[in-house]
Amino acid sequence: MKQTITDIINETIRKSDCRTRFREPLTGCAPADDPQFYRLREAAHPNHLLPGEMLPGARSVFAFFLPFDSQLVEKNRKHPYVSREWAEAYVETNQLIKDICEEICGYLADMGFNAAYEQPTHNFDSELLLSNWSHKHIAYVCGLGSFGRNTMLITGGGCAGRFGSLVTDAYLEPSAQTRPLYHPFCERCDYCARICPVSALRDGGFNKAACYRRLLEVNDFYNDLPLSDVCGKCACGPCALRDPAPNTSETVGA
Ligand code: SF4
Ligand code: SF4
Repeated sequence: MKQTITDIINETIRKSDCRTRFREPLTGCAPADDPQFYRLREAAHPNHLLPGEMLPGARSVFAFFLPFDSQLVEKNRKHPYVSREWAEAYVETNQLIKDICEEICGYLADMGFNAAYEQPTHNFDSELLLSNWSHKHIAYVCGLGSFGRNTMLITGGGCAGRFGSLVTDAYLEPSAQTRPLYHPFCERCDYCARICPVSALRDGGFNKAACYRRLLEVNDFYNDLPLSDVCGKCACGPCALRDPAPNTSETVGA
């Protein structure tokens, strides 16, 4: 069933009219009762939903990562502001993630299972600037990567890309154990902290408000596009396209 779901992701990308190009999607699964989902109330949002609150009777959580291609990363890295292609990719991928989730839910329904998903973005508390269903935290529990200093999840295919996730009452075989919470490479790298135009990542912290102001400014700049509150300068460094130190981020006990 997991392979069929992966095929659905690839097929939905292939059929879409996205101009954005992606590398091979990554996927991961976790049991719905994994205790790490409870811990997301401390790590992500005090009211972060549990899988069973998203879907009564939930058995499995599935997460996927759509990694952007290297040209898109290169364009945003070199652009003096935020590249238009990066903003367009955000807009396009929001729709694509929804389409993928719809297709997977349709497949699971045909197999007699229920599934539910949350919107790819803008499901957050506008005061706390936190999401009550954080796809990247869900992807962490599903074993897809470790968090970088830039607050992104660094997967085996890097962090430049987008996450989606869903909950189902079907059994999906869990992935290998989760990785360390924080990526050890960040102890000897500060690319993202240096490159951030509003110094939101200084001193090992994250100034969410400063970052969000910048995202809204980018949205104003590209005001001919649908909502495009993005920047991603911090996602175009050494961890953009690959795990910068794969041997130091191998799986640990969950
Ligand atoms: S740019 Fe460097 S410090 Fe920042 S998240 Fe990536 S590896 Fe870590
Ligand atoms: S998205 Fe932009 S503003 Fe926000 S932390 Fe990254 S580089 Fe800084």
